[in-house]
Amino acid sequence: MKNENMNDKYFEQLRQEVLSDVYASHELSRTLPESLFPLHEHSARATAQSITDELMLDGNARQNLATFCQTWVEPEMHALMDTCLTKNLVDKDEYPQTAEIEQRCINMLADLWNAPNKETIGTATIGSSEAAMLGGMALLRNWKARQKAAGKPFDKPNLVTGPVQICWVKFCRYWDIEHREIPMEEGRLIMNAEEAVKRCDENTIGVVPTFGVTYTGQYEPVKDVSDALDALQASKGLDIPMHVDGASGSFLAPFVEPDILWDFRLPRVKSINGSGHKFGLAALGIGWVLWRTKEDLPEDLIFYVNYLGGNLPTININYSRPGAQVVAQYYNFLRLGREGYARIHQACYDTAIYLGEELDKLGIFDVIYNGKGGIPAVCWTLKKDAKLGFDLFDLSQILKVRGWQVPAYSMPPEQTSLVVMRALIRHGVSRDLISLLIRDMKRDIDELSANPPAKKSSKKHSSHNHSGRELTK
Ligand SMILES: *Cc1c(COP(=O)(O)O)cnc(C)c1O
Repeated sequence: MKNENMNDKYFEQLRQEVLSDVYASHELSRTLPESLFPLHEHSARATAQSITDELMLDGNARQNLATFCQTWVEPEMHALMDTCLTKNLVDKDEYPQTAEIEQRCINMLADLWNAPNKETIGTATIGSSEAAMLGGMALLRNWKARQKAAGKPFDKPNLVTGPVQICWVKFCRYWDIEHREIPMEEGRLIMNAEEAVKRCDENTIGVVPTFGVTYTGQYEPVKDVSDALDALQASKGLDIPMHVDGASGSFLAPFVEPDILWDFRLPRVKSINGSGHKFGLAALGIGWVLWRTKEDLPEDLIFYVNYLGGNLPTININYSRPGAQVVAQYYNFLRLGREGYARIHQACYDTAIYLGEELDKLGIFDVIYNGKGGIPAVCWTLKKDAKLGFDLFDLSQILKVRGWQVPAYSMPPEQTSLVVMRALIRHGVSRDLISLLIRDMKRDIDELSANPPAKKSSKKHSSHNHSGRELTK
């Protein structure tokens, strides 16, 4: 009798495991654990199903117009990345072909960014943030070496930037560097040459223009700044290097506006970072930093380890990381070439310009950036004299009903009264989708005008983060 019971139980378990519809199974008759480390094993099928279901609650990445990062990749890229899931990029000795592919990408970027010769050195990173940190550290160490050699103090470094992405704020804080961030002014939301040079002195480790400013999408005038620094050197003898934060622009201008001088064609540009996972069109997790020549990267930022076999150099901050993103980037370079990148990006620019024009027609917005002279994005604000019972935060909120994520945010501290909305147009954000966004926006504006939301505290929206950088991805 006892035995029979056990058999019954066993059979029942087996039936559950094998035959049950996953939602009728015992496994899915519970909520998922949240804090205590689970005790028992569970079936792969039920576990994966329930996690997949929870993830439905995330926004739809394709409708996220806040992000600069790729949200659509070709099926071939999925497959290639899957084959590399278990390969560690740092194990250059075990995976020499992946290492070789990384180097090929660096060579191709040196070509794309017009490096003067084959002496270029660089590395794949996890994104522009790691790349910027490496570029910044090289600036800092080179400056220290110059000051030491001249018998001058080297304890008060500063860095001159326009309104930057958070990675440069981090860099300055981590390394105790005075951050001379040029404040925005009415009518000037980015760095210009005059404002940059004004802030330079012998303790300036470098000037970092952003080629594709996070807040608005505009390109900072790298060439003008470089010229002004040449003039400064001629008049005062200060030789200040530049690093270009080309997170977005380094993968746009070379294809679409090759005549803009922003890269290694300017001798003062010593290093450049770019995000492969933004307009480089690779899947998330890849950035690049390149130095103009080997001399621009201090020797002591190159590390050699022998415990993986071989004695191979690494420049990275991370150690282990997947090789898949590097392979994905290489795939794109081969698959698209200059021609393919130009066509994809041009389509995005055209759609951005279309969005800007449509927003303009709605009559209540001032388009601050319309997709010309920067990255394929549009940035707009409410007309000052538009007497409306709602603001951009309300509009952003109501757009979410149909899944659109279009952020509203305030500018950095000195310009927080300026609230804008911004939409990034990237690979996979089609003209048709944007026409639907406009249609939804019209309907939402009518709805908000007819039923203005009750105003709570106006502080609610601008205080997510005291530096106003909450959405600057
Ligand atoms: C996105 C971005 C960064 C940070 O890059 P990640 O690749 O997200 O680490 C830095 N600077 C600028 C200008 C950016 O747009």
